[in-house]
Amino acid sequence: MAPLHAANRQPIDYAPRPSAVQDEIAALNAELARLPLPGRLLKAASLGRAVFTTSLGLEDQVLTAVIADTGADISVVTLETGRLFAETLELLEATRGRYGIAIEALKPWREDVDGFVAQYGLNGFYDSVEARHACCDARKVMPLARALAGADVWITGIRRGQSRNRADAPFASWDATHGVIKINPLADFALDALEARVRADDIPVNPLHARGYPSIGCEPCTRAIKPGENERAGRWWWEADAKRECGLHVVPATAQIQG
Ligand code: SF4
Repeated sequence: MAPLHAANRQPIDYAPRPSAVQDEIAALNAELARLPLPGRLLKAASLGRAVFTTSLGLEDQVLTAVIADTGADISVVTLETGRLFAETLELLEATRGRYGIAIEALKPWREDVDGFVAQYGLNGFYDSVEARHACCDARKVMPLARALAGADVWITGIRRGQSRNRADAPFASWDATHGVIKINPLADFALDALEARVRADDIPVNPLHARGYPSIGCEPCTRAIKPGENERAGRWWWEADAKRECGLHVVPATAQIQG
């Protein structure tokens, strides 16, 4: 497969930030832990150009509602992979209408998708982990890099309770892959607390959650979970590795500095 960084595109500048930023991470973690959710988002926005990537999952819908309520200067972006559920696309429109905010839908480059399909087939991601990662690279990882180009802060809806792989997620870390401070304002939130917030504020959420999909990604790669399974067990369920991720939140161990 051709390199995903095609020669006819502008290279993305991943210049490392000053080490002083790394020194601030521990203090930032402590400060975020003390703040309520609106304060965490306002703090994130105060650190520089902030981008929130929403998958339109329940966690991300709560964050979008709080961003709209606070007026925090945060760009909201979703990765429109081309393989999303119809329910997710409908929710995207409903969310824009409800909160009156811009949510940029970033699509993959056509040549990246065509390259994947030519090498592996449209649904070749079922055949090997390598193929699955190649599809996620084309449809998610590369668009994410574009979304974060020039950003200082990346906000996500990651929670520690979502899976064992996320159990140690910090409020803040240095993401050297994208050259940003990564902030997880919901790191310590439990799912039931967020569900209560959704009910109380009538926040629009994906109807698939009520059909057994706590975590929703691309349609061909997401199934409902069974009783007792962790919240992300329905993602790439055919793979044996318990540390399944799409590549968006996987960085080299040496590149992630946590407080
Ligand atoms: S989740 Fe599935 S369809 Fe979506 S980008 Fe990854 S492999 Fe491709």
